[in-house]
Amino acid sequence: MSIETEVLIIGGGIVGASAALFLRRRGLPVILLDMGACGARASGVNYGGVRRQGRPLAQMPLTARAHELWGQLPGLIGTDGEYVRSGHLKLARTEQDLDELRAYRERTEGWGMDLHILPADALRRRFAWLDPGLAGGSFCPEDGHANPRLVSPAFAQAAARAGADVREQQRVVQAVAEDRRFVVRTASGEEIRARFLLNCAGAWGADIAAAFGEPVPETAIHPLMMVTEPLPAFMDVSLGMQGGGIYARQVARGNCVIGGGRGALQSDGFARPSRKEVPALLARAAALLPPLRGAQVIRFWTGVEGSMPDHNPVLGPSSKLPGLFHAFGLSGAGFQIGPAVGEVLSQLVADGASSLPIDAFRIERYTAAAHAAESQSSREHTLE
Ligand SMILES: Cc1cc2nc3c(=O)[nH]c(=O)nc-3n(C[C@H](O)[C@H](O)[C@H](O)COP(=O)(O)OP(=O)(O)OC[C@H]3O[C@@H](n4cnc5c(N)ncnc54)[C@H](O)[C@@H]3O)c2cc1C
Repeated sequence: MSIETEVLIIGGGIVGASAALFLRRRGLPVILLDMGACGARASGVNYGGVRRQGRPLAQMPLTARAHELWGQLPGLIGTDGEYVRSGHLKLARTEQDLDELRAYRERTEGWGMDLHILPADALRRRFAWLDPGLAGGSFCPEDGHANPRLVSPAFAQAAARAGADVREQQRVVQAVAEDRRFVVRTASGEEIRARFLLNCAGAWGADIAAAFGEPVPETAIHPLMMVTEPLPAFMDVSLGMQGGGIYARQVARGNCVIGGGRGALQSDGFARPSRKEVPALLARAAALLPPLRGAQVIRFWTGVEGSMPDHNPVLGPSSKLPGLFHAFGLSGAGFQIGPAVGEVLSQLVADGASSLPIDAFRIERYTAAAHAAESQSSREHTLE
């Protein structure tokens, strides 16, 4: 039995699910497939940082549009997802780090982030609960954080309420192009034919792209996370560090969510915290945030997310097949920019063009020649 639809989406993370929601708002028939539960992979287990500060310049239009969409969350998905605009504080360990934060503020002027640079004494006065030895920080008042376990599944539920045919536990095992249709087969024997195919398979996106003759160097990374017991409120911002290493936020019920370092991939395709990195993260947290000393950590975890060598996603039309669109490898940005990426995908399908500039993310940049030039890493990529 073969099922026909207009748009088939592989992957029910925040990217695929928001694409499904925006496509339904345009009235297009949509089937969304996920090999597990929608929003259960990177989109549901991430740190929950909803920040624009620190994003590379190429992502400014996407991150700014996402900021608007996050402001409309209850209307979009029926929950506020514990989203708060607490402010995001990026800390500098050294004067050189602080200069980099100043240079970033200049480069991104005009994108509405309203970044304030705080030298060491101002930082100590305003955030007395931080390590007093820091060189300063950069504060973005309207960035914030949210609960990924609430937000990401809610995008898929909202898409289903809007009429998308959401099918979970459906692993795509084959995807081909035949007679101007995409034909996708699942492990349980379903066959779905569609005019448009969206590859929103996260860390597995490169496998789908390779099946259509577009291999790209996506790697899987596994940021290490932990959460403490509920503590008296002290941390009223989400914070990160210039150059990476640690990021932290405190939720309304008092638990502190802290990330830094990496977990490790297991043979079952899931990742686990690595024993080697846990003590280092605990030590960094206690040094940066003195109120955490003596607190109990109640859980460690990690996840599987796709990353590209230039820390920008692959987003846009296939270079080979009309009607195929890719959106994967969003790395540490996907929770925040995911809704805007979903909206862009709906525009590519319904209008044939994106309202935002996305040329920097085209899959063609990973031809053999282009790849070598773009593979240098960026200090601004702090994972959170
Ligand atoms: C621990 C951690 C912390 C992070 N912190 C942040 C943060 O603070 N802020 C931020 O903005 N970003 C953060 N990120 C990154 C962010 O979570 C991801 O970029 C984003 O969730 C990617 O969304 P996605 O929909 O592309 O991928 P996913 O959520 O991984 O969704 C892809 C889906 O595709 C499905 N799939 C794959 N292959 C198949 C197949 N063959 N058949 C059917 N289904 C398939 C999977 O089951 C999965 O549900 C973090 C990531 C992790 C792991």
